[in-house]
Amino acid sequence: MCTTCGCGSSETLNHQHASKVGAADKTDLRLVQLEKDVLGKNKRYATQNREYFQQHEIFALNIISSPGSGKTSLLTATIDALKDQVDINVIEGDQSSQLDADRIRSSGAKAIQINTGKGCHLDAHQVGHAVEDLNPADKGVLFIENVGNLVCPAPFDLGEAYKVVMLSVTEGEDKPLKYPDIFYAADLMIINKTDLLPYVDFNMEQCIAYAKQINPNLIIIKLSATKGDGLSAWAQWIMKQRVLNESKHKP
Ligand code: MG
Repeated sequence: MCTTCGCGSSETLNHQHASKVGAADKTDLRLVQLEKDVLGKNKRYATQNREYFQQHEIFALNIISSPGSGKTSLLTATIDALKDQVDINVIEGDQSSQLDADRIRSSGAKAIQINTGKGCHLDAHQVGHAVEDLNPADKGVLFIENVGNLVCPAPFDLGEAYKVVMLSVTEGEDKPLKYPDIFYAADLMIINKTDLLPYVDFNMEQCIAYAKQINPNLIIIKLSATKGDGLSAWAQWIMKQRVLNESKHKP
């Protein structure tokens, strides 16, 4: 169960039931307090992670999307493109299996897998321990591939420099309106699988308009992780922001 969204928990069911019988106020207050406690604790761990990344000049990105949007494919393509220029490490989040960490290692980067079990997002405490185990080199790039989910990861700061939200053209262009929290929290949106545009009913302009409606500052990159179109814009964004981020924290 996710302690913030309460998905699958008896508390969620009780909350719905309680609303019907007019006893919602107490339950609501308890859930709000629980959410504040969980996010407050997470924020303290996220601050520690961020300080560590700044001290070691590690550029950390938190990659968030639905399952199947192509996060791991994007990362293997990015590792291929950048591994000769910068040290790359990856933290993989999935409910179970080591499959994605294995894919990352085969592309030549160091990776560690976090299995969240019933959990539907990564938290900053898990990421802190994974960083200890990975021991990434200074001045590198750290990708944190979150559990496939557009909802629960949104409020959880992991200490990253930027949140990157991704959707693919095989999904609905209305996702920014349906799941606004993550599009509001993100700095960059990647629209993946552009090579499939001729075969699917996806309105690119509408998708971008919806995303900008939620977050006018959102940077947008369209690409195909598997075919390579647009990948250089993403690689350039990483390398540029990495330098800007370092200089931002220099005394
Ligand atoms: Mg994956």
